[in-house]
Amino acid sequence: MSPLPTPPAAAPRPFDEAAFRAEVRAFVAAELSPATRRKVENGLYLAKHDYVDWQRALWRRGWFGASWPGAAGGRDWSLRQEHAFLQECALGAAPMIIPYGVNMVGPVLYTFGTAEQQRRWLPDILSSQTWWCQGYSEPGAGSDLASLSTAAVKDGDHYVVNGSKLWTTEAHWADMMHALVRTERGTRKQQGITFLLIDMKTPGITVEPIVTLDGVHHTNQVFFDHVRVPAANVVGAEGDGWRIAKFLLSRERTFIADTGNKLRMMRQIRATVAAARASQAPAQDALMADALEELQARLTALVELEHFYLDEWSSGRDDGIGASVLKVAGSELLQAMSEFWRDAHGVHAACYDPADRVAGDGLAAAEPWRQAAAINYQYLYGRCWTVFGGTSEVQRNIIAAQLLRA
Ligand SMILES: Cc1cc2nc3c(=O)[nH]c(=O)nc-3n(C[C@H](O)[C@H](O)[C@H](O)COP(=O)(O)OP(=O)(O)OC[C@H]3O[C@@H](n4cnc5c(N)ncnc54)[C@H](O)[C@@H]3O)c2cc1C
Repeated sequence: MSPLPTPPAAAPRPFDEAAFRAEVRAFVAAELSPATRRKVENGLYLAKHDYVDWQRALWRRGWFGASWPGAAGGRDWSLRQEHAFLQECALGAAPMIIPYGVNMVGPVLYTFGTAEQQRRWLPDILSSQTWWCQGYSEPGAGSDLASLSTAAVKDGDHYVVNGSKLWTTEAHWADMMHALVRTERGTRKQQGITFLLIDMKTPGITVEPIVTLDGVHHTNQVFFDHVRVPAANVVGAEGDGWRIAKFLLSRERTFIADTGNKLRMMRQIRATVAAARASQAPAQDALMADALEELQARLTALVELEHFYLDEWSSGRDDGIGASVLKVAGSELLQAMSEFWRDAHGVHAACYDPADRVAGDGLAAAEPWRQAAAINYQYLYGRCWTVFGGTSEVQRNIIAAQLLRA
């Protein structure tokens, strides 16, 4: 990709939520390409350039990485401002912001990185010049992440990495991976883990695709065979990776409830129900109305809960379970909504070919069949939401342990 100009620095502005939301809405309406908006609304496959183009439009406006500190290239947005921004983007059917660079390794680098590491990588994260993936999980180390065994052995001014990472989303698009590797076997498994930045073009790396239930290649298994990584790519000290991983995981879950997308999806579900009503017997209609309002009540509660926790965290309070509660409530609601949507769409929902989603904008099918792509995407890919970022079972363990301790 060609070098990009540096956008003008802007002073942080006071946050008037209503005015800011209107500004974001207008920006999304004007700057998001109609083709990309149609893809998001219809649950079609988004290519890497769809994300990059949108992220760059945000960056040019000064709204990409805006929650980063000013010294790192951000605008010091508060949690509430970032939340309002994400919600409005989702309501306007913008692609989600891919978190591995801007929301994960970026904050790690400006918090724990050396001045040289910050200079080398932060600007390219903000301009989406460098695409990152997250190499944490491994075969045998998912929920129990600290059991990871991908080994990095020091050899002069390099580490030699051997092992494998599993479920690495978008590794096939990535220039860089931020990885957890084992540099030592300690008395506790959390010891001896190191946070390492790996250039994906290094000889010895193989990326094997994994196709998920929706029939699309999102994720991968990555193999390392004597991969030489400069020691200068360690973030923090050798063996300090677990502390950094915990910092990063807590950030990963801040906006996990993803209410903007659910509010937009609810609008689409209501349109499907309105269309279905014309052909429903009255009894079925009443059952559908009941189920729909139950989902609406859960969504309203989730929106309120998210506000509550954002206010708590903004005030420096943390009951230790907020992120887990939002993760469980949000991901399980998404699945329930997609199940209801599929049922409401009736027989048309069964007619789904993953190739339709990848065909993207060229999909010229009649409305019921076109909607089936959006529904099946949410229904099939949505199964992942209770797994990645920590499974529902593990989140419930965290909630129970904290409440029982209290
Ligand atoms: C689509 C997708 C994308 C992903 N992307 C990435 C990525 O980009 N980078 C990355 O590093 N990882 C990624 N992951 C991995 C994800 O974080 C793990 O799948 C997740 O942490 C669960 O680990 P596991 O798959 O090894 O399951 P396991 O940990 O083996 O769990 C199997 C089952 O056992 C249950 N279980 C495990 N431990 C307990 C316990 N203590 N108590 C009760 N139940 C338990 C789990 O809830 C689950 O039902 C992705 C996963 C998916 C599905």
